[in-house]
Amino acid sequence: MKQFLPAIELLAKGELPSNSNQIKVYEKSYTVEGNVHLLMVKNSGEKFILATGEGAIFDELTGTDVDGKGKACPLTYENRLVLNKYFDYTVPQAFGTEIATIGLGDRLGLASPGHIETVREKNIKPVLAQQSIRELTLTNRSMNDMLDAAAFAVFQEGYKGGYGADGDHIKEESDIQYALSLGASMITLDCSDHIDNTIEKASPEVLDEKFNALSEVVKQRYMEQYLGKTFEVNGLTLTLDETELKKNVLLYDKAIDYTTHVYNEYISKENRAIDFEISIDETETVTSPISHFFVANELINRGVKVVSLAPRFCGEFQKGIDYIGDVEQFEVELREHALIAEHFGYKLSIHSGSDKFMVFPIIAEYTKGVFHVKTAGTNWLEAIRVIAATNPDLYRRMHVFALENFEEALKYYHVTPDLNSFEKLENVEDAKLPEYMNNDAARQLFHVTYGLLLTAKGENDTFLFRDEFFKTLDKYEEEYRDALVSHIGKHIELLGL
Ligand SMILES: [Zn+2]
Repeated sequence: MKQFLPAIELLAKGELPSNSNQIKVYEKSYTVEGNVHLLMVKNSGEKFILATGEGAIFDELTGTDVDGKGKACPLTYENRLVLNKYFDYTVPQAFGTEIATIGLGDRLGLASPGHIETVREKNIKPVLAQQSIRELTLTNRSMNDMLDAAAFAVFQEGYKGGYGADGDHIKEESDIQYALSLGASMITLDCSDHIDNTIEKASPEVLDEKFNALSEVVKQRYMEQYLGKTFEVNGLTLTLDETELKKNVLLYDKAIDYTTHVYNEYISKENRAIDFEISIDETETVTSPISHFFVANELINRGVKVVSLAPRFCGEFQKGIDYIGDVEQFEVELREHALIAEHFGYKLSIHSGSDKFMVFPIIAEYTKGVFHVKTAGTNWLEAIRVIAATNPDLYRRMHVFALENFEEALKYYHVTPDLNSFEKLENVEDAKLPEYMNNDAARQLFHVTYGLLLTAKGENDTFLFRDEFFKTLDKYEEEYRDALVSHIGKHIELLGL
């Protein structure tokens, strides 16, 4: 740890060391707490918080002594908790319904500095930590790894604007409990297991049969509440005929019950604000505006405080590429969805929201700039772009592997790329490799194979790509930051913020 001595000596005098061959200095992290001076630095690919001075925070941070002058504290879970204790801005927070938020899923734990720079001066708050259980499992990460990465990034960048942490697309109660216990500020409840996808195409006879099988109390309550009634919602006039009502009850009754249960049992019992998002998008059934109204009306009547709701929009929101579908139809429906959300006082949430440049201006207009948008895989694709530009050999090996294992990845994701639509690898010179990330099919190829790529092992149980991948991104940290600022910046711009 001798290499840190000159830096610590300067820090003790209240001076900032400059970058050297030995260490990279994150100037924005410089923080003084009482008599303790803190600074994040990097040495040989590993980050530390240098601490010097006297005070409780110095005693609580754990690290290696540097010649009796201070200590070098690694970015561990324990040290993250110390930062959380002393600096509120490093703790995830809820944002409620008045301001736009953007989910910035970071599968690598490296993207947040770029994300922070992108949103810093904008009228939108970042949900820096946002991973589903599926994403965590596929990348061998824990929820704490995700929270650690976000908190340390906030400290590194000296970002005091606040950030959120989303336990994303959670289905099981145990996972909700777990995410809340670790400090998640947002829970996205995925109701798809409680939505019956056969209803949409069921015959009238089947609908009747299934509806009649419901309890008398349930049937009666819904009939009284909706049949023959007209609802004036923010300028929309909404009605449900008998078939539509039966359909909506059969589709959503269980999901509504489950959501209400989760809200009462977990969300409302937290003694802090939680952004509770309801996701009914992970199904094959497109959410019509009337269905959206039905679900929302039921939830609000049952006392559920919804902060955001994600319908399944018409058209296709495939991962990592632009909107596929009828943009005019989308505009008609989005307008109604936005009016309904505004009526009930929550935000509309757009999932798989990355790269939907065609429809961003529509979303901005009808939501009046207050919405939640989730992005995730696109941040990983920008990392791939950096790899292609800086380590062509690694890129080529990953490309071949992704093609060979594409079928396997389809077990987890729905995408339909035409893998013949991009140039064969052997015909592309090194300098042109980053252009693959401008091709929709190549984007989707990498988008779905991330877990396989990052965990692939070769002989002797060593990683095929992982170590070299992280080493390259560490070396080209600034390039990755710039790529994100440019790409996510384009999202923010088209979303009008
Ligand atoms: Zn979703």
